Amino acid sequence: MAKKDYYEVLGVNRDASDEEIKKAYRKLAMKHHPDRNPDNPKAEEHFKEAKEAYETLSDGQKRAAYDQYGHAAFEAGGMGGGAGGAGAAGFDFSDIFGDIFGGGRGGGGRSNVHRGADLRYNMEITLEQAARGTETQIRVPTMAECETCHGSGAKPGTSPTTCTTCGGHGQVRMQQGFFSIQQTCQRCHGTGKMVASPCKDCSGNGRIKQHKTLSVKIPAGVDNDDRIRLSGEGEHGVNGGPPGDLYVVIHTKPHAVFQRDHNDLHCEMPISFSTAALGGEIEIPTLDGAARIKIPAETQSGKQFRLRGKGIKGVRSSSYGDLHCHVIVETPVNLTERQKELLREFETINATDSGHHNPRAKSWMDKVKDFFGQ
Ligand SMILES: [Zn+2]
Ligand SMILES: [Zn+2]
Repeated sequence: MAKKDYYEVLGVNRDASDEEIKKAYRKLAMKHHPDRNPDNPKAEEHFKEAKEAYETLSDGQKRAAYDQYGHAAFEAGGMGGGAGGAGAAGFDFSDIFGDIFGGGRGGGGRSNVHRGADLRYNMEITLEQAARGTETQIRVPTMAECETCHGSGAKPGTSPTTCTTCGGHGQVRMQQGFFSIQQTCQRCHGTGKMVASPCKDCSGNGRIKQHKTLSVKIPAGVDNDDRIRLSGEGEHGVNGGPPGDLYVVIHTKPHAVFQRDHNDLHCEMPISFSTAALGGEIEIPTLDGAARIKIPAETQSGKQFRLRGKGIKGVRSSSYGDLHCHVIVETPVNLTERQKELLREFETINATDSGHHNPRAKSWMDKVKDFFGQ
């Protein structure tokens, strides 16, 4: 059954003064005192409740802890609670203080056997490699078991002894004020063992830093931030624990021509002013080589041409995306006198005409006129 709130037990507000708490307790204690209520178990229970509430709330430090954490503040401490995690309302105090004391909890609870850490490897690949998939080798640093001492950390011929600080538990209880906090033993770093004469090759760590080369298969269609898990290729476990995993995280280098958007590709397609006006055929790049696109006459800047199936087939998709080509009509530069002459002549004919050669400019001018006319 859940414990009653201490303030409720005493019948006072949460901001009650010390004096009010004392008064409330005295009243309850007089009423329920066992001497006054012989053979009344209910009264005895009330009396104990009030006493416990008063003992906590009359102590400034305890009251502050209770206000912040409730009953949980006292459950994992020396007051009858087991080490964390026992019982329905069980509560491991190191959950709260783990951060403050640098994660004293050690992944494996009471056991000294820990799974090795997961590792992350950032891999840069090109867009082409992402689209088609690739196989490559990577070199990763790893902590491997020391061959000289077979991981014990002790000089050959000697063996590790039980840590005298933690008695081999790997964890120690520290008293912080009235709190009891569980922390990884500083002396043995959670292994529970001590090495009197350390192995020279690994300085007693039992593990040495090495590099290993791994083959990684990148599936076709991977995208940025996709992760490939190499099971068991992370760091070695402690005391025979399983190794962690290695995650290869994909980053695609920017491409000179294409931008990727999921399975679709986008590219710019600059065309000349005369091709845009008269139409023509131009060559464009795709991931599978060059393709030709027919530009119809009177193509405007910003028009998109879609080439179906010329995008990328994502790892989890069943079909290819498309390639979108965005037309950019270029203004000619570095004109010769002759070219300028022709353009001036062109402009003169344009001006004497009705103006229907520039549909966008015409509609824009109409809107501007309307705007000023209102
Ligand atoms: Zn060694
Ligand atoms: Zn220890």
